[in-house]
Amino acid sequence: MTHRRKIFVGNWKMNKLPQEAQAFCEVFAPAVAAVKNADVGLAAAAVLIPGLTTRYRGLQWFAQNCHWAASGAFTGELSTAMLKSVDVSGSLVAHSERRQMCGETNTTAGQRVAALLGAGLQAILCIGETLAERDSGRWREVLQEQLEQGLAATGIKNWSAALGSDPERPLLTFAYEPVWAIGTGRAATSGQAQEAHAFIRGWLINYFGNDIAQRLRIQYGGSVTLQNVDELMSMPDIDGALVGGASLKPDDFAQLVLRGVRNA
Ligand code: PEP
Repeated sequence: MTHRRKIFVGNWKMNKLPQEAQAFCEVFAPAVAAVKNADVGLAAAAVLIPGLTTRYRGLQWFAQNCHWAASGAFTGELSTAMLKSVDVSGSLVAHSERRQMCGETNTTAGQRVAALLGAGLQAILCIGETLAERDSGRWREVLQEQLEQGLAATGIKNWSAALGSDPERPLLTFAYEPVWAIGTGRAATSGQAQEAHAFIRGWLINYFGNDIAQRLRIQYGGSVTLQNVDELMSMPDIDGALVGGASLKPDDFAQLVLRGVRNA
């Protein structure tokens, strides 16, 4: 089996003020400084990022959204040049909260991915089914549609060039986040998560070919905690975690990452 470098990212969502973010990093950054076999990052609100990226270079910093246009009349959006100017590594794309509340579609998701990769930045593309879609047994179709439409909308033809030159860190990462598990305390079981990740991996193999698909990382997200991280991260197709609630306290998130990397 191909070894993939695990990636753990905390999604702070619309939480923390600058002083709180700073206080978090003072505890968190030294606690995870020794982690060399995985990527550790935080997706923070845009106003928090400038001071943090320069001070805490050992962490990867992600925005929570990024627009595809270079500049212009897009009130409330951020361009790739803006993200690069404050040294972020990349951005989340199409988090389910943005799909549900901000009109994000598979097409806009793909456009955002294309802009990020084109600028040499990482994109973490979030996909996942709702509870109704899981209960009706349609989750595979939903994931397939999100992948097919999202990647088609990137317009990218030469994926090996688009994914960048670092074989351990392809610029595109997927986050499988079942909507019913986000912020609910009801994580997918390791079996359910592995089944979905294996389905996604199979789809990626068809789309990209085996060589690229085996390098692409698929994070699991949805109520990851200290209690379930070991089991989830021991699954063969789970390559890290996207963590919301459990990333808000520095000691807890550091412990979660340290446990997760033991399986890296
Ligand atoms: C998320 O927001 O991406 C997430 C997974 O949240 P939580 O860990 O709180 O379920």
